[in-house]
Amino acid sequence: MTHFLKISAVFIFTMLTIVSCKKKDDNDNIDDFKVENRRGLGVSAEDILSANDFSKLRLEIVYTETTRPTPETIQALQQFLGDRINKPNGITITEKMIATPTNSPFSLDEIKDIEDEHRTQYTIDDDIALYMFFANSSSENDTDTSVTLGSAYQNTSIVVYKNTLVSFVSGSDNDALIAIETITCEHELGHLFGLVNIVNDDIHPSGHEDAENGKHCVIEDCLMYFSSASTRSAIETRMQNRNQNTIPVFDDLCLADLAAKGGKL
Ligand SMILES: [Zn+2]
Ligand SMILES: [Zn+2]
Repeated sequence: MTHFLKISAVFIFTMLTIVSCKKKDDNDNIDDFKVENRRGLGVSAEDILSANDFSKLRLEIVYTETTRPTPETIQALQQFLGDRINKPNGITITEKMIATPTNSPFSLDEIKDIEDEHRTQYTIDDDIALYMFFANSSSENDTDTSVTLGSAYQNTSIVVYKNTLVSFVSGSDNDALIAIETITCEHELGHLFGLVNIVNDDIHPSGHEDAENGKHCVIEDCLMYFSSASTRSAIETRMQNRNQNTIPVFDDLCLADLAAKGGKL
């Protein structure tokens, strides 16, 4: 019995050492409780979609005085998540307003710093947390012809460039704002769900990922068609031709990939 305990103690100690070394090496200077939310894009797709390890999900929406998403967008996101992911113990959306960051337009490093300072919801126990920041400016990568509407940049982190969305909406066309905002948020969530082929595990060997616009879907009316980072003129045309009440949804190829990772069909 003593021998067994000794062996167990050595074994446990070794395991702890391995785990703590691994954490230290991979995540220098990151607070421990943030580690699970500082991983690469797409690696948590199954954790988000299935109920295997996480039975609950929280989405924290962070915005400034001028960038709060419309109530319709928030409602649409609640519905979208409920339709696609398996969380038997609930999906909650929380909101937080922060002081307006300066330094805009933003680099991705600045967006990460804002998250580090203001995000309050982190994955804990069987409750996985997502974060979405509605930025009070644009991406510094924007040019006269191309823009980024939003970006999924880590396993649970999204930025939406609200001022850029607004620049495509004429006057007080609230329906247009709701549409472009909802499409952008849902498209970026699709990237957190691992679409398309983000971590090279697409169940379709061919015919799904767009060869010209990697990590996006070949189907033109799919939510994951290349559209988030695109040309200004293409977005303008899309907004003009938009059917008032239609938000693109996942096509069958994308849905099959989500289902393979535990999402709802
Ligand atoms: Zn995209
Ligand atoms: Zn698709």
